[in-house]
Amino acid sequence: MTRLYNRVALIGLGLIAGSMALAMKRAGLAGEIVGTARSAETRAIAAEIGLCDRIVDTSVEAVKGADLVVLCVPVGAMEAVARDIAPHLMPGCTVSDVGSVKRAVIDAVGPHLPETTHFVPAHPLAGTEHSGPRAGFAELFENRWCLLVPSEGTPDAPIANLRALWEGMGANVDEMEADHHDLVLAVTSHTPHLIAYTMVGVADDLRRVTDSEVIKYSAAGFRDFTRIAASDPTMWRDVFLSNKEATLEILGRFTEELFALQRAIRTGDGEHLFDYFTRTRAIRRSIIEAGQDTEAPDFGRGSKKT
Ligand code: NAP
Repeated sequence: MTRLYNRVALIGLGLIAGSMALAMKRAGLAGEIVGTARSAETRAIAAEIGLCDRIVDTSVEAVKGADLVVLCVPVGAMEAVARDIAPHLMPGCTVSDVGSVKRAVIDAVGPHLPETTHFVPAHPLAGTEHSGPRAGFAELFENRWCLLVPSEGTPDAPIANLRALWEGMGANVDEMEADHHDLVLAVTSHTPHLIAYTMVGVADDLRRVTDSEVIKYSAAGFRDFTRIAASDPTMWRDVFLSNKEATLEILGRFTEELFALQRAIRTGDGEHLFDYFTRTRAIRRSIIEAGQDTEAPDFGRGSKKT
């Protein structure tokens, strides 16, 4: 057990903060974990299930005496939280976040923070479609990447300490520049979510025509889309509004590829389809080899009727 921080304040108590609290507790990484959330209901649930050592009513109260403050709210809410807590931050403390977009968060939060604090933005590449304080679990970050996005001039010590925290929670840690992060995530996460939302939306429209058969005979391909499309609407609205440029760039490329496949189907160009699917199959293999997913058929669902 290595205690890295004396007091960690978690602002927002959903899937990510909840998982952090449990993972930090499991590894003894923090002396005390203080949490707060916007609604009394979430705070009451967090207190009931013992998510943190202490649950307080406001962000201002939470950050008092904390040597690490982590913003775990939707990207669009980060600036308001930063403005509220800024005058109450302990000099020398580290402020971090877990937002899925980095440039917009850095621009929104950075200017509010006092110079006596260190801002080390972060993004754990781990999640589920569930949200809220009951959704967290200590193993969420195990063998997943966490990307740190410190700005130039940030001293080494606060970065190294935050790295150790994420490693202590089971993550592999890398550093990345903010714009590059947003482009990479537009490819690996943001655009795929938008495509899943669209596919499920199309199927829902069709359901009205096919008398619920889309639901009844839901096959693996569609079911996997529905899992992704069940993700939190607030979080994902904020992701697209704040990673506009990169998402639109990748969507443009996606549309071009889709048109090419559409054309191949129309013209009966089987070779094009076969080559394309062979290439994509190899990508799936490399993801499994990198330990980023399981090889279990049907995503480990087995014969369970879901
Ligand atoms: P979540 O489960 O929906 O929890 C969000 C928390 O933020 C809740 O405690 C909520 O409080 C609070 N909150 C919402 N709006 C707020 C506001 N305007 N002011 C203050 N607090 C507010 O979300 P999450 O999945 O943990 O996501 C949190 C952050 O992690 C987001 O920035 C997201 O982009 C990022 N992230 C998510 C994933 C993922 O897969 N879920 C993965 C990596 C990173 P109430 O419950 O009281 O409303």
